[in-house]
Amino acid sequence: MKALVLKGKNNLSVEDFAINEQLSPTDVRIAIKKVGICGSDIHYYLHGRIGDFIVKEPMILGHEASGIVIETGPDVKHLKVGDRVCMEPGIPSLGSNATLQGKYNLDPTVRFWATPPVHGCMRESVVHPASFTFKLPDNVTLEEGALVEPLAIGVYSASTATVQPGDVAIVFGAGTIGIVTALAAVSSGCSKVILCDIKQGKLDIIKKHFPRNIVCINTTRESLAEVMKDIAPEGVDIIFEATGNPTVIADMIKYIRPAGRAVMIGMPSEPATYDVVAAQVKEVEIRHIFRYRNMYPRTINMIASETMNVKPLITHSYNFSDVIEAFRFAASMPENAIKIMISM
Ligand code: ZN
Repeated sequence: MKALVLKGKNNLSVEDFAINEQLSPTDVRIAIKKVGICGSDIHYYLHGRIGDFIVKEPMILGHEASGIVIETGPDVKHLKVGDRVCMEPGIPSLGSNATLQGKYNLDPTVRFWATPPVHGCMRESVVHPASFTFKLPDNVTLEEGALVEPLAIGVYSASTATVQPGDVAIVFGAGTIGIVTALAAVSSGCSKVILCDIKQGKLDIIKKHFPRNIVCINTTRESLAEVMKDIAPEGVDIIFEATGNPTVIADMIKYIRPAGRAVMIGMPSEPATYDVVAAQVKEVEIRHIFRYRNMYPRTINMIASETMNVKPLITHSYNFSDVIEAFRFAASMPENAIKIMISM
């Protein structure tokens, strides 16, 4: 089948790729319709690796997808041919300790699309476990379905922070994950979210399209401490760290109120440190997240009920015939782009 194949650093091509997938009784086969380009896809494209995950064999990219069910295994009850669906890209081992604890995202043997050596989903069809495949309500588009994957991280972040009604939060980093975290935090009850970044282009898109209680700050031009004097003079209830930048992490505790919380989302490429004593004297709770678990149904409900308006996140669309061009564009890190969507 036609697929987007990465063979190593900067070596990307669309080709006919032989892939033989058997449908087990509990699987569905899905014709892929929309796939979002993720930062991790770009990272593999530019560097051929993320940390210890190295592209050694040709690998199909893509993990943020939606599609239409074209075949169901005999034991599948909740889906039928023709259903519009989105899919969780990570499949854990059902017998692992983490999975048995209900924390299946922490299973070290999880098979996650487009994480070497597991193929991704930028191809004509995939076979996927029905239990990790979710039907989209009629009023949720296939584009929105493909956004559920990154959105689930934002919803999981807000859930991990145990947002309380009226909380004030800071999100560091207005990349896709920072933005979806800000949206999820507001939708979960935050009265104000201060979203900090250094790229004005992204902040401008957010200012234009998203709720007014997301306050955008360009930290190269404005002082966060100054803005907080009005909004949260004693510190914010929650910090969401979505930059992975060691300088931001080293400095973050001072913005949190006594007994506040921090959720670590961004992944620093080197070990990072924060001020332990500053965190101790405030008894700051620092929580960590890895991807998400059990968030797809919630996230789909939030889109369907218009609790979150996510359509403006899709800033650019390409057909699969132009997918290489789309990757080149994404790799240039354009300031005016949030999510680049591919139609298969
Ligand atoms: Zn992603």
